[in-house]
Amino acid sequence: MKSRLLFLLFTLLLVANQASGYSIQEKISQISSLDPEQQQIAFQELLDDQNISVTEKFDALKFFAFNLVMGNQLSLAMEKANQAKDFAIKHGLPRAEATSNKLIGIVFYYQGEHKTALSFYEKALTYFEVNDAPIETANVLNNIGLVQKQLSRYSAAIDSYKRAVPLYLNHGSEYDAVDVRYNIAGLYLSLKRFDKAIEILNQSIAYYHEQKAYLDLARAQGDLGVAYKGAGNNVEALQNINKALDYFLQQEDSYNLAATLHNLSEVHLNMGLPLKAIAVAQRGLEYSQLSGHKNAHVGNLHALSKGHFLVEEYVKAELFIEEALELADSIDYHTSGSPLAIKALVSASRKNPSLAIKFLDEYIEHTRLRYTAELNEQLAEFEALQLNQKLELLEQKSALNNQIQAQQSMEFKFSIVAITLLGLLLLVTYKKIKDSQVKKELALQVRNRTQQLSEANKQLLELSLLDGLSGLHNRRSFERDISNLWSEYHAGNGKFLLMLVDVDHFKAINDQYGHLFGDEVIKSLASILKTNVRATDRVYRYGGEEFAILFTHHEQQAVKETFKRIQYQLEQLENIDDTSISVTISAGLTAIEEAPESINSLIAETDKRLYNAKGAGRNLLVCS
Ligand code: GH3
Ligand code: MG
Ligand code: MG
Repeated sequence: MKSRLLFLLFTLLLVANQASGYSIQEKISQISSLDPEQQQIAFQELLDDQNISVTEKFDALKFFAFNLVMGNQLSLAMEKANQAKDFAIKHGLPRAEATSNKLIGIVFYYQGEHKTALSFYEKALTYFEVNDAPIETANVLNNIGLVQKQLSRYSAAIDSYKRAVPLYLNHGSEYDAVDVRYNIAGLYLSLKRFDKAIEILNQSIAYYHEQKAYLDLARAQGDLGVAYKGAGNNVEALQNINKALDYFLQQEDSYNLAATLHNLSEVHLNMGLPLKAIAVAQRGLEYSQLSGHKNAHVGNLHALSKGHFLVEEYVKAELFIEEALELADSIDYHTSGSPLAIKALVSASRKNPSLAIKFLDEYIEHTRLRYTAELNEQLAEFEALQLNQKLELLEQKSALNNQIQAQQSMEFKFSIVAITLLGLLLLVTYKKIKDSQVKKELALQVRNRTQQLSEANKQLLELSLLDGLSGLHNRRSFERDISNLWSEYHAGNGKFLLMLVDVDHFKAINDQYGHLFGDEVIKSLASILKTNVRATDRVYRYGGEEFAILFTHHEQQAVKETFKRIQYQLEQLENIDDTSISVTISAGLTAIEEAPESINSLIAETDKRLYNAKGAGRNLLVCS
């Protein structure tokens, strides 16, 4: 926009110089054609000339400073602008002082000192507004819009332009109107509303072409290229930027070359031609250094960083982006957040995802701060999303690697654990088997012992139930058995018969043959009794020479026959041991159904019958 400012300034100066018949302008033109040393001398002569008015002298200073700005001699331009201001103050020229402030603002603007530039513009604005100078006011507002744009204060920039528009419409020319529109196009570019920018720039280009305003034309073409680049139309972008480039090269306009080469480099980047982009940005960097165009310098550094990033030269990429960020900070020049995004990408590429994320966050924050929400939140989100995706991909890769490593180490750990467990398992199993073997052996031993014991116990029990002399079951056994039979009978399971047997006159046998012989008789009788009953019947030694027999049937007749058989066998005893002894027995027999009330009643009844047998002469069985 430099040319526009110059144009406006020229307009201002022309208005101021109409009264003096252009003489000063002519003189300045002559002086400007001299070499620097002679220029200084000639200029001093002019200031010392008594025939020239104070106003003319001020205009001379103004023109001179302005020419220096045109020639990119910014520090010298600043010197002259301040000299003009001092001159205005010294001679009490407030309007000239305001103009000087604007001029100083312009130099600061080109030096990239935007905030300082703004403060000088505002001083000038106050004067022009108060003193009813609409065009000057509109011009300063235009300048303020530009610097606010550079400071990323977009809504403030739009406000400034809005204030300028009616002033131009009422007091200015068509050129002024185009100029403001052109500036608005620049804003649209910054806000990335490329379609709008393209529309306005095409109108501007048509007008500048018609007006043969070639510098403005070239700048507008360059901007149109940038707009097409933004819109993704690389072919149109290249065509327009190259047109601008041709003009600036021809003019050796290093200031505009710096910015235009940066834009060209960005187009090459978009086209996927990083090497070309690097070469162009390098050239751009030379021009930005030469012209002191710091914004363009930052831009070229960005392009270089991106280019080196794309060719995977991350160290270089990082160096350039660091330099760019530093310079941008020093001149308070906030471009889009993309440098931070580039830095994030570089960090990510250098396998430092956490650093990358830090820059990404800064980038997102920066982008949020910069753009008005209504216009650029979406863009920021989109860029952030893209970057996020790239980072996610990198993180995923890294996470995958970590996973694989973790898995491998897990597998290793697992195998150790598994082996240990297996070992333990084997040990436990071995122990278990061993234990179970021992247990089995023990169980077997216990079982054997138990068996032995139970057999011993059984024997003991049997012994306790047997009579030591006769070998028959004893009275205790009889009591147990009769109790069982009695219960069974009352449960409805079978009848039984009870017989009580008593040896007749046994006392006499003892007395006659001795006690031992008596014992032998008892043994013999026991044997006879036992061998003459059924297997299911049982004979007991009831006590002394008395016996009990439990018949587990109810055939009285059979019992009577058995008794006879016993009597007979007893008779045969006489022949044993050559004795003439006669052993007889008496017995009572009762069926359970005859005395079912109790065991005692049954025994008592049987005992009564035995007693009856004795009373009836002995060697008898009494059954009723
Ligand atoms: P009865 O015909 O009236 O039964 O006359 P008894 O002599 O058999 O009757 P008593 O009850 O008066 O005598 C039984 C005798 O049996 C008394 C006792 O010495 C004898 N005696 C009891 N137990 C044994 C024994 O184990 N061995 C021997 N040798 N004698 C016994
Ligand atoms: Mg007796
Ligand atoms: Mg007896």
